[in-house]
Amino acid sequence: NYRCRSAFKLLEMDDKHHILRPGLSVIDCGAAPGAWSQVAVQRVNALGVDPNAPVGFVLGVDLLQISPLEGAVFLSKMDVTDPVTLKKIQELLPTEKADVILSDMAPNATGIRELDHQKLISLCLSLLDLSQSILRPRGTILCKFWDGREAHILKNRLMELFQDVRTIKPQASRKESAEIYFLAKLYSDGVD
Ligand code: SAM
Repeated sequence: NYRCRSAFKLLEMDDKHHILRPGLSVIDCGAAPGAWSQVAVQRVNALGVDPNAPVGFVLGVDLLQISPLEGAVFLSKMDVTDPVTLKKIQELLPTEKADVILSDMAPNATGIRELDHQKLISLCLSLLDLSQSILRPRGTILCKFWDGREAHILKNRLMELFQDVRTIKPQASRKESAEIYFLAKLYSDGVD
C-alpha cells in the first residue's frame, strides 16, 4: 500500500530507466507523504529484505511533516535549499555521498502557470547547487519540473554537469498535467 499514487510514476520510470538498485544511497527531496521513499526503500533494499543483496539507504526531506517509514530516515519541516539542511543531510548519510537524488518537489502552485513554472525551475536549479556537495561522481538525478519557457535553462545546466540527460514523461502522470521529469545520469562534478 503506497501513501500516494505518485509511487506508480517512480515505479514506472525506474522499471524503464534503472535508477534504483540494491545498495544505493538515495536522497528523496520533497518526500511527503512518502510514497517515493516507500518505493526507494524497496528497490535499494534499505531494510535488507533480500539477504543476498547489498543494503541501501533512503533519506527523505520535506517542508512538511513526513510520517515515519521503516527503512527510511526523514528530515521533516526542512527546506532543501537551506544550508542547514545540507549539513544535516551530510551528517546522516552513511556513505560520504549519495548515489541518487530524487526530486518530486513542487512549490505551492499559484495557478499562474508561467510563475509556477519559473518557481519550480529555480527550485530545481538550487537542487543542483546542493548536489555539488552531496552527489557522488557518476551519480544520478531525477527531477520533476513543469514545462515552460525556462525548461531549457535547467536542461542546459544538467547537460553541463551530467553525461546523459533525458526528458521523460511517465504514463502514470496525468495526461493534462504539464509535469515532466529530467533524468540525468553520470554526474561529472565539473572536474574532468
Ligand atoms: N514524491 C512524494 C510522494 O510520493 O509521496 C510527493 C511529493 S509532493 C508532489 C511535493 C512536495 O515537495 C510537497 O510535499 C512539498 O512540501 C515539497 N517541497 C516543495 N518545496 C520544497 C523545499 N524547498 N524543500 C523541501 N520540500 C519541498
